[in-house]
Amino acid sequence: MPRPNRFYDVIRIGPVQVGSHYDGRGRTKHTAACTAPGCGFSADYRDRPAAELAAKTHRCKA
Ligand SMILES: [Zn+2]
Repeated sequence: MPRPNRFYDVIRIGPVQVGSHYDGRGRTKHTAACTAPGCGFSADYRDRPAAELAAKTHRCKA
């Protein structure tokens, strides 16, 4: 079994990183997280395309 909270398929879209991970309960979550200092944007999505879309459309406040 894959270990939970290990990100894989991490990509970067602008300042936002998108990665997928198992939540340890048999599901995969997809997280988009902005790496810009002071931004703090981070969100989980059930679908990888949704996470990538969020990364692409993220308007960074930082
Ligand atoms: Zn940002």
